[in-house]
Amino acid sequence: LPALAVVGRPNVGKSTLVNRIIGRREAVVQDKPGVTRDRVTYEAEWAGRRFKVVDTGGWEQDVLGLDASVAAQAEYAIEAADAVVFVVDATVGATDTDEAVVKLLRRAGKPVVLAANKVDGMSGESDAAVLWSLGLGEPFPISALHGRGTGDLLDEILKALPEAPPQRFGTAVGGPRRIALIGRPNVGKSSLLNQVAKEERVVVNELSGTTRDPVDELIELGGITWKFVDTAGIRRRVHLQEGADYYASLRTAAAVEKAEVAVVLIDTSESISVQDQRIITMAVDAGRALVIAYNKWDTLDEERRYYLEREIETEMQQVAWAPRVNVSALTGRHMEKLVPAIETALAGWETRIPTGRLNAFLGELVAGHPHPIRGGKQPRILFGTQAGTKPPRFVLFASGFIEAGYRRFIERRLREEFGFEGTPIHISVRVRE
Ligand code: GDP
Repeated sequence: LPALAVVGRPNVGKSTLVNRIIGRREAVVQDKPGVTRDRVTYEAEWAGRRFKVVDTGGWEQDVLGLDASVAAQAEYAIEAADAVVFVVDATVGATDTDEAVVKLLRRAGKPVVLAANKVDGMSGESDAAVLWSLGLGEPFPISALHGRGTGDLLDEILKALPEAPPQRFGTAVGGPRRIALIGRPNVGKSSLLNQVAKEERVVVNELSGTTRDPVDELIELGGITWKFVDTAGIRRRVHLQEGADYYASLRTAAAVEKAEVAVVLIDTSESISVQDQRIITMAVDAGRALVIAYNKWDTLDEERRYYLEREIETEMQQVAWAPRVNVSALTGRHMEKLVPAIETALAGWETRIPTGRLNAFLGELVAGHPHPIRGGKQPRILFGTQAGTKPPRFVLFASGFIEAGYRRFIERRLREEFGFEGTPIHISVRVRE
């Protein structure tokens, strides 16, 4: 894997940033102070790419002296890393030590991304801008502690890092993408699974590096290997007499838990039921990507088709963002549309909007459609950031309480602007006094 070194003076926030990058909250424990301490390497993943992060933060300045400790980091980075994040404390600015290290790094010709840390408020932006003077290009204002700006920083880091060798599963990191095929009894799950397994190659569960779980099936579809999770419950057509629904719903929940994307089958020969909706809600609440497959399309006549479309309009309104395929597991109709729909949903699920673009959008939205005035005051959205993906999560900062209707309006506009097809999105609002 390509290696990223995080370099900077003591106390600029290197370890906090490393924790951010590897998605961990607790502080790195510095149990073995001193120069002999091993470099600690972690594995990180961002936007579907994996890389190593080397934490040099524990190198003790007491032993080496401040300048020597930072120089040692830089030397290590030059020797072993593919790219460097150079962290500067924006509240302090660039020191002589910083400038000396920059010289070392530039001479070595490694790609360097400049992180201006501890930019917690709007005022810090100008502190960050001063760091252009280091000659490392654009300083990325971040708050490693609160996560602000770290998404954009990581995007930049990925540009600087070489691509990892291709994964054996095409799009997948850490094994094939995981699909849960769910739906109430008799919607055609087993038929659909047989249909895809018949036309496509069923990959024997013998690939090294994949967790071998006998209830999962690896199936190659559209040139990509997918893992259909928990298929034993689909294959084994036993009908439990007592509590069958209860067990079916447990199994659905377990499959959804293991999956990245849920394909929900609906039986179009019957009316859309409360149970169908409950299953969809399960997938949405679990934050999974979602595709809706309307099965048994071969059974539809003109009239039923008419009523079905009306039903979909009313009953499926809350998941109108999910890609839809009209299939027949019996005849194989539109089976080839399943994979593109799943890929669309996964792409939406992993989408990240750069902070700059998000705020340009929010600024325009707030100016054009301000929040209704309440109690003589007008709550405003001040700025926002995307806190995560899979599914996309946004944190918006507001000057007052934002009503549910306005939140829904924001979600609708976000979807219009950025797509997010096939994925739930979470928006939380924090009020700043
Ligand atoms: P599961 O309980 O969801 O696994 O459903 P099955 O796959 O066992 O299907 C239930 C019944 O629906 C079976 O009799 C299938 O033959 C039938 N079926 C499944 N898919 C289709 C389809 O696309 N068209 C028609 N006409 N029947 C289907």
